[in-house]
Amino acid sequence: MHEDEHTKIILEKRYSRKITGCMLFVLPVAWLVTGLVGPPAYLVGAVFYGLLFLALLGKYIFKDLSDSENIVITPVGVHLGEGFGSIKIDWCDLGELYTKTHTSSHSSSSGHGEVVVETDVIYLETKGSDQEEHTHTIDFSQWGGRFVKDHMAFYTAARVIDMFKKLRDTTSVEERLELIKNGKGMSIAEYKENLQVPFWNRPYLTCYDCGSELRYNTKLPQSERTCPSCGSKEISEPIKIFPDKQG
Ligand SMILES: [Zn+2]
Repeated sequence: MHEDEHTKIILEKRYSRKITGCMLFVLPVAWLVTGLVGPPAYLVGAVFYGLLFLALLGKYIFKDLSDSENIVITPVGVHLGEGFGSIKIDWCDLGELYTKTHTSSHSSSSGHGEVVVETDVIYLETKGSDQEEHTHTIDFSQWGGRFVKDHMAFYTAARVIDMFKKLRDTTSVEERLELIKNGKGMSIAEYKENLQVPFWNRPYLTCYDCGSELRYNTKLPQSERTCPSCGSKEISEPIKIFPDKQG
């Protein structure tokens, strides 16, 4: 089991601090109209619309906590979980791949709230044994990307397509194993270990290569600061909120 973990990448939807690509809003007009009744109604309205907002947000978070939509990458191919209909695609059957962003809006049953969700969708074209072409669609993420299970590598749709192309374009199993091994990023345990410093020494910084926003230990010299997601050194500079402490 443990040995097996080294030979695959599991991409999961992990709730991250930043809700990228997911715009949520509750109709503020409705709230203002409620407030016209009298000032206390503003508070009641705020609580009511606030709860509605959380209910709509919660629906998406819970959906994301399920494992059924995990994407498993192995040296043989990619396995899409039950949520996608348990599809297995071998690298040698894979053709063109591309991504698009879909925008959809969902209204609450009471009609007072609306959520606009942007989903990055990946299209995989395959040629099966029947030599017929199929296009598989994967709802990749509503959160800007996915994380590797137990690791810090963050995959946007563009990064995963790049990875799939590399795995498709080589026939060497060793090379594929190497790509998988190097594609996981830092383990969560190591990431947490690195951050045993006061909070002003562990700001969120952006990686210019993979787009991840993660915490960095700024006590370490800049030359030792590498992205836990992709290993790049192209990291944004910390904004000094506590200049005397951050030195
Ligand atoms: Zn990075």
